[in-house]
Amino acid sequence: MIDWEFLLGIAKRLAEIGSRNGEILPIFKVEPFKHYFEKDGTIKYDELDEYDGKFTRREILARYLLVNVVLDQGPDMIGVRELLKNVTTSLYRQEIRIFHRPLDFFKELGISIDEILSKHESIKEIRAEDWAKENKSSPSKYNLFFAQSTRGIISTRQVLGYVVHRWGVPLCVPLLLEKDLESEQKISSQPLIDYLESYRSAEIMAQQLKKSERYGLGDAIGDKACHLFAKLYVSIFKLVKHKIGDNGWTDFSYEVPFDSNAGRVLFRTGFLLELASLADYESWKVIQKGEGKGGTDYIRVTNIREKKATKISYKSEIFEEYLYVVHEFLKMGRPRTVKIQRIPNLLIYKLHQMGHKFSVADFDDGLMYIGTNYCYNHGEPGCEDCPLNDICRGYNENKKLIQKYRT
Ligand code: SF4
Repeated sequence: MIDWEFLLGIAKRLAEIGSRNGEILPIFKVEPFKHYFEKDGTIKYDELDEYDGKFTRREILARYLLVNVVLDQGPDMIGVRELLKNVTTSLYRQEIRIFHRPLDFFKELGISIDEILSKHESIKEIRAEDWAKENKSSPSKYNLFFAQSTRGIISTRQVLGYVVHRWGVPLCVPLLLEKDLESEQKISSQPLIDYLESYRSAEIMAQQLKKSERYGLGDAIGDKACHLFAKLYVSIFKLVKHKIGDNGWTDFSYEVPFDSNAGRVLFRTGFLLELASLADYESWKVIQKGEGKGGTDYIRVTNIREKKATKISYKSEIFEEYLYVVHEFLKMGRPRTVKIQRIPNLLIYKLHQMGHKFSVADFDDGLMYIGTNYCYNHGEPGCEDCPLNDICRGYNENKKLIQKYRT
């Protein structure tokens, strides 16, 4: 029998923590967009559809977020966000308005690359020491440029490949949308917004960011980044325009952007083991024996996606509720099995019914906060001070969950 009280307890606590400690993406500090925001950093929502050049502010922010989530896949989120902010500001000062005229990025490719290189150097000077301490690494290894390998994201020194693939591809999405409209002799002040919201739900939109045959980013974006975009677009920046009030675009209509912090916290607390057995996770290569640092078992979080919650029977009452959430809010048709990655949507929905108005973003922010401030990726995390320690099974019942596994 699944212990739903335990799962709901973890979800509620994480969402409470996340709602108080959500990460702020500092777009309000990006010089060309500062006037979109109030002094306290909130968006001027009543001016969101005002024109800035040919496009609305809403459209420009969505374009910025798309590039941001692609770059965010690299190491050191703080550094990456700073890099995008500083490069954008510098290019706009030179009239290279990459979010208003994406083609400028390529026309002035030499300047774009030089700016990325020089801003990277200055960020490295500020961030490398802290990053090295947090990651038990050396400051000389600090590098925000990344590429894909069979083991996931790795550092790269080849700046051209990084710039064209990671900056260029997401900038090409609105560019192609504009070109397609032109060929039909149409015009729009928000082609990206129109495209995103043409999908029935935020979850379908997130999946199509990667998979769409014409506009999908393919290898340039991972599942986590697609779902991070949905989180930012729907719940954090609240940019939804056409679909307000539509069940497919609510705060629980997209899946959690699972990253290594999320996986580590959910595993150590016992959350994941409530849904499937250790043997299941090993057979799916979510747990890879001896592949973690120092001979520990490695938790490969991305392998959880699409896996079945084997402990939930399709005959149970909870299965009916799951069907309802998937059908009504994710708009994904009628599933035959319960997917682990969608359990948070069900829990957040159930919390809503109980009067706790949290979002999937709150749950994810809670995971990020715990993962980066307490549940460090080594054998001695900050359990004593962790706000989950009274309900964490790793801390209270089974220390192996902490000591034996790494992400
Ligand atoms: S109590 Fe310890 S193991 Fe559990 S979530 Fe907190 S830091 Fe991680």
